[in-house]
Formats: sequence, structure tokens, C-alpha cells
Amino acid sequence: MADKKYLEDFEKKIKDTIRDYHLLSKTDKIIVACSGGKDSIAILYLLNHLGYNVSALILDLEIGNWSKKNLKNTQIFCKTHNIELHRISAKKELGYSIEHLMSCVKAKKAVENCTVCGVIKRWLINRKARELGADKLVTGHNLDDEAQNIFMNILKGNPSLSAGLGPKSGIEAQELFVQRVKPLYFCTDAELRKYTEIMGFNILYSKCPLSSAVFRRGIKNCLDNFEKDYPDVKRNIVRKYLKTKPALVKAQKSKEKGNIKRCSICGEPARAEVCKACEFRKIAVDTNE
Ligand code: SF4
Repeated sequence: MADKKYLEDFEKKIKDTIRDYHLLSKTDKIIVACSGGKDSIAILYLLNHLGYNVSALILDLEIGNWSKKNLKNTQIFCKTHNIELHRISAKKELGYSIEHLMSCVKAKKAVENCTVCGVIKRWLINRKARELGADKLVTGHNLDDEAQNIFMNILKGNPSLSAGLGPKSGIEAQELFVQRVKPLYFCTDAELRKYTEIMGFNILYSKCPLSSAVFRRGIKNCLDNFEKDYPDVKRNIVRKYLKTKPALVKAQKSKEKGNIKRCSICGEPARAEVCKACEFRKIAVDTNE
């Protein structure tokens, strides 16, 4: 009985977020970016259950058994729930493994694995979602992720970087970017864990073996500790941010006016002559020569 109430409340929270922030409509062609983890599987299940026109897209990073297990779980999940699944292989798209790219870039630049991986994931997933004709790209970002992002940008001394956060990503619609939306925006990590456990989804809860986000981990630990003494601290950070977002967007829009162009190498959207993904790929190519 308690579980039934929990599931109803959880589902209502997602429906409210979608409605209040105009995230999705029943006529949208929706792609859910799936990692096989709890967040993306939860939102894939719910959107399908609520009758949205949804299919899944998994970027197979081919990081050993961790990726194999996540891919297998996602394939079984999609088959069970009759959801179309698209797979892209990072290795096939790049011509080498993501681990190789990380080591080449890190030999030249002071960046973490997750920075390299994040750039490549956004580049490949946006391109594939656009090819598939998606109207919306759903990601599994939750309240913990968002509070960490906001806090990280403040500690980096650059809160304006948060202008593109929020339930709808980006500061304004761009032709080449499929609109990213986050229906799990107000759900915490703990709530999602509980939801997926009650639902009995087959999920690998262990972390990616290449995760290296030292700064993010520090922020996460800090917020988790704060939350013990000051419940709702994460929610308060996000609520406060949403109030200041319009001013951040306004300032950022005037800065970025006409700044988004096409990358001279791949033709994808870029803020510079060459996009970040091509900059990293070029380092790997130069290293191999
Ligand atoms: Fe990539 Fe980091 Fe995520 Fe692993 S944890 S999949 S390296 S972004």
C-alpha cells in the first residue's frame, strides 16, 4: 500500500514537471538518451507508460563489462516494454575507443575523462537524435545533478554558465540542436533509486569505471552532507536558481548573439571555428600519426 502511494506520487511529480514547464506533448517524437542506469530507465518507462511517442537511444561507450551489462539490460527492457531501441557505437563513430581518445586528450590538456566523454556524448547523441527526426531529446538528469551543476558553476566563479541549465536545456531554441528536456528535474537521486527498486527494474547501480569527476564528486559529497543537517538544501538551490534563470539567460543571449556557427570540420553547431568534439578528435588523430 505504501509502495502504491509512493509510485503514484512519483508519477504525479513527473507529470506536473512536464505540464508546468511545457516539456513534452503527445505529438512529439521523443528520443530518450539511455545509459541503462536508473534515471534513464525510469523516465523511459514512465513516458512509455504515459502514452508518449517514445524510443530509446543508447550510446554504447564500450567501456568493458560495465557497458556490456548496461546495453544488455536496456535491450531486454526495451524488448519487454515494446520500445524501439537505437544503438550507436562510440568506437565505430570515432574510429577508436573512447578510452583511447581520453588518454590522447589528457596527454595534451588538463581535462578529466568525464569532460572528454561528456563532449563526445553530447555531439554524437544530438547528431543521431536529429537524424532520427526527434522533436525532443529526454535526458535522465535529476535534482541532484542540477544542484551539483549550479553549485559547481558558482564555485568556478562563473554562475553565468548555469544559464543553459533548467528543465529545458539551452538558452534558446537552435535549429541544429534537438531540444533537450529533463522531466526528472525535481526528483532526487534517492527517490529515483527507491522508484526503480520498487518497480524491480534490472539495473546496474554501480558507477562507470572511468568516472573521474573529482570536482563533481567533492560537490556531491558536500551537498549530501549538508542535506543531512539542512533537509531540502538541494531543492532550495534549484528553486533559487530557477528564479534567477531569466536574468542569466538575458545576459547570455546578448553575449552569444550570432556566436553559434557550424564547425568547419563536422558541420555540427559550435561556438568556435572548430567544435570541442572535433578539437578532441584531432588530438587523437595527430597523436596516432
Ligand atoms: Fe563518461 Fe564519465 Fe559518464 Fe563514465 S562517468 S560514462 S567517463 S561521463
